[in-house]
Amino acid sequence: MEKQHLHYDVVIIGGGPAGLTAGIYAGRARLKAVLFERALLGGLATYTNEIVNYPGFPEGTTGLELMHLFEAQARHFGLEIKNTPVKAVNLTGDDKTIETFRTVYHARSVIIATGGKPRLLGVPGESDYLYDKGISFCATCDAAQCVGKTVVVIGSGDAAVEEALFLTKFADKVIMSVLHEEGHMDANAVAQEEALANPKMEFHWNTVVDHFEGSARLERVVLRNTKKNELEVIDADRCFYFIGYLPATEMFKGQINLTDRGYIPTDPHMRTNVDGVFAAGDVRQTCLRQVATAVGDGATAGYEVERYVAEMHIFEKQLMQKEKPGLVFVYSAIDEASRDLLPMVQEIEQHYDGRVKLSLVDTYKSVCLSARLGAAQPPSFVFTKDGQVVTRSIQTDRASIMRVLDGLVAEPVTA
Ligand SMILES: Cc1cc2nc3c(=O)[nH]c(=O)nc-3n(C[C@H](O)[C@H](O)[C@H](O)COP(=O)(O)OP(=O)(O)OC[C@H]3O[C@@H](n4cnc5c(N)ncnc54)[C@H](O)[C@@H]3O)c2cc1C
Repeated sequence: MEKQHLHYDVVIIGGGPAGLTAGIYAGRARLKAVLFERALLGGLATYTNEIVNYPGFPEGTTGLELMHLFEAQARHFGLEIKNTPVKAVNLTGDDKTIETFRTVYHARSVIIATGGKPRLLGVPGESDYLYDKGISFCATCDAAQCVGKTVVVIGSGDAAVEEALFLTKFADKVIMSVLHEEGHMDANAVAQEEALANPKMEFHWNTVVDHFEGSARLERVVLRNTKKNELEVIDADRCFYFIGYLPATEMFKGQINLTDRGYIPTDPHMRTNVDGVFAAGDVRQTCLRQVATAVGDGATAGYEVERYVAEMHIFEKQLMQKEKPGLVFVYSAIDEASRDLLPMVQEIEQHYDGRVKLSLVDTYKSVCLSARLGAAQPPSFVFTKDGQVVTRSIQTDRASIMRVLDGLVAEPVTA
């Protein structure tokens, strides 16, 4: 079956807090925007019954409730939402394609908000006690429920040891299952020292999780001592995994830069290394993965996409216009040398009496636009004809500029 082709300003992949927030901003900016979600709208946040650290809800809320509000707000601003997985993408060039089962979506820009999921162990009983039933992945989210309890922490890297220390502020006892020999952990030395000295912490060396036991909720974590091949049963109704997180970036491999752990590095504007491709939320290389941080990222990405699309429009319709030769003055409003040239540039435009189109690009405001022009540091000039860049110049004297323009206009004007 031939696939249908549709055109959008922006496609958002992923309907968690980051994607929905980006959708609110893109919709509010009146961009033609569509969001794809392959599972439950709301993402990982819907896995938790209680969210108490998202601002604005002093009594707390449930993940589902919060995400319903996000969805309603996004729809209110005109975001189209499609419950279907994105199967493939081509992120190169200005016409990016995003494929679902039946349709090829063409977009000027893409926001990747695909999040990810915590790494699992795959041991018996694990799938029965995930998330609200006892196996947690986020101390920041769930520590408050551990007051006065015994909890087990799996892992011995920086995150595991630091989060275990954090948990000691709530739990009575924090038991770490460590794969290595006594005294050896993968965390930094300072964290290790602090953990070993903490009276609330207990270490089970040379152990791995054998299985989990309980009824409706987790009741026991059963470890296996790999040296003695003996089981060690721990009564605990919470077990925290800090053994890594798997970002959902498989589909983008080879198309955008990824870290060695598969996260997407971005700049503070949420831009990836590919023009027009932004990333937001848990999928991004970042230090905290929470609803509040995903929302912040999504807002930035949605805002930046609007600027990007507007700049693309200016680039195509104004800077690359085909009616007459163009002179683009690339300047910086915060640079005195640039500002001093403005009167001369305007005089040159008047000199050609409507036969040259002058455009100004302020690199302070429009970094992308000057990059798209391939312009040098300001002040510099870009000359166009028939919708193409003919040449670029860093010569800022009147004679040099007019020499190029004389060659571009059909009949040179004599002063
Ligand atoms: C059990 C649990 C409890 C938590 N509790 C809290 C808490 O109390 N407070 C807090 O602030 N944070 C909490 N978090 C963390 C929080 O949920 C995440 O940080 C947040 O959801 C990240 O948002 P996101 O939009 O970046 O990614 P996600 O929420 O992971 O959303 C990404 C979405 O993209 C979709 N997707 C992926 N690939 C595709 C594709 N190819 N096509 C279409 N859709 C795709 C996924 O299905 C998913 O819905 C918790 C997390 C868990 C697991």
